[in-house]
Amino acid sequence: MVYKITLIPGDGIGPEVSEAARHCVDATGVKIDWEIAEAGADVIPKYGTPLPASTLASIRKNKVALKGPLTTPIGTGFRSVNVAIRKELDLYACLRPTRSYKGVRSRYENIDLVIVRENTEDLYAGIEFEEGKPETKTLISEIEKLSKKNIRPDSGLSIKPISVSGSKRIAKFAFEYAVRHQRKKVTAISKANIMKFTDGLFFSATREVAKDYEGKIEYEERLIDNMCMQLVQKPELYDVLCLPNLYGDILSDLCAGLIGGLGIAPGANLGEGIAVFEAIHGSAPKYAGQNKVNPTAMILSAVLMLDYLGENDAARRLDNAVAAVIAAGKDVTYDLKPDRNDPTAVGTSQMADAIIAAL
Ligand code: NAD
Repeated sequence: MVYKITLIPGDGIGPEVSEAARHCVDATGVKIDWEIAEAGADVIPKYGTPLPASTLASIRKNKVALKGPLTTPIGTGFRSVNVAIRKELDLYACLRPTRSYKGVRSRYENIDLVIVRENTEDLYAGIEFEEGKPETKTLISEIEKLSKKNIRPDSGLSIKPISVSGSKRIAKFAFEYAVRHQRKKVTAISKANIMKFTDGLFFSATREVAKDYEGKIEYEERLIDNMCMQLVQKPELYDVLCLPNLYGDILSDLCAGLIGGLGIAPGANLGEGIAVFEAIHGSAPKYAGQNKVNPTAMILSAVLMLDYLGENDAARRLDNAVAAVIAAGKDVTYDLKPDRNDPTAVGTSQMADAIIAAL
């Protein structure tokens, strides 16, 4: 069988890490016909948008994409392309497994956490009102009338919608993931004591879904501030974490920090029958074109993709090859060396070659 998959190389370090991941996937023997699709700030002059319709059409058609990071252009009037792809394709679940790899310097060992982040709602919905604009003033006075609370007239507003259906959908995803991957517990996280009608709603929805899994998967709730401390002090107590969009974003980076940084943290954005796989890290523009950065996060995102395709044997082989190269510590990029200036550090493509050799 040949899979047709959309490949968005991205910009900044995107093309280098995407190329590395593509070579590794091809070397597993899984047959993939890659359809290259463009996106990002660089294509604005050509298409008038950083997200051409043809790119979205390619993902919709192929149902699976591997995507390099994309820079969010500042001051062009365009919002994040990454957020736009998630919204356009209703990729409502962001999955970020966070596992320790032997050989990566970190303060922690044996971390094995899975973040399930809601991807379409919350303060990330992009419903914002700029300070001083007439519509912002109208909204402020309307809110003051309805809530009997004052808002400073020089305020900007960001709206935080969280729905019952959206919260139940992400909770179900988290529990189903837990069942399929033999995990034991789902922890729902929010700030329900303060934001009762959004975060409180999130908890009541996840609690409702948890009832369907009683006896199979344990369920608990934590407040986000407490959770940050708990993860730093006792990460071994946690398993699958289910969060609304913003908290999920922040905790993903915290968890990446627990395993030694963004260079090795993979991710997936999933909807109904459609999936886009990408590293957590961004386009790190200052390293662009230097064949320097770590390709691991992108390669591990491709491992998630292989699992999604049902190519579990290839996924395990690639994951083991990555683990072996990192553990050996020789053919790794600068960030995985004890000293960042270590002259024996290899480049992005050389690390990918070493992983291919270890397959
Ligand atoms: P970043 O993740 O691009 O880089 C931050 C730092 O992390 C880098 O300077 C580098 O030191 C380190 N780093 C990142 N990836 C690495 C790798 N593979 N190997 C080794 N070190 C690595 O974050 P940023 O600088 O905040 O964002 C740059 C751009 O990327 C922004 O425009 C941002 O909007 C965008 N971004 C895109 C995505 C995405 O495409 N999904 C995600 C996050 C940020």
